[in-house]
Amino acid sequence: MQSRTAVVILLPCPYCGPRNASEFRYVGELATRPDPNATGAGEWRAFLYMRDNPVGWTTETWYHRAGCRQHLTVERNTVTNEVWASRLPDAQLRGRRDERATGGNVADDSGGATY
Ligand SMILES: [Zn+2]
Repeated sequence: MQSRTAVVILLPCPYCGPRNASEFRYVGELATRPDPNATGAGEWRAFLYMRDNPVGWTTETWYHRAGCRQHLTVERNTVTNEVWASRLPDAQLRGRRDERATGGNVADDSGGATY
């Protein structure tokens, strides 16, 4: 019988430090929400459902559900699960009503960590 080795993936949270990925919820690839007053149905459909799903480095949003309950932006390699950097979402996004509705960030721009 072969023994299996458990793989632990660590995600660096700007507030909590490196934590097991099981504490987080994957939100998705980082995408900029289009202006609802200037966007057609095709663009909305693309924003909601179309993903690049790249092989290699990508920028994603994660939610630390079992920790500080904050959203963070992570640059992760989808093949090796290496994490190059994590930071708080951009200040431009934090002011939006939709992000406040999900319990978005309350911290200022100084948050973030590079590993
Ligand atoms: Zn955290």
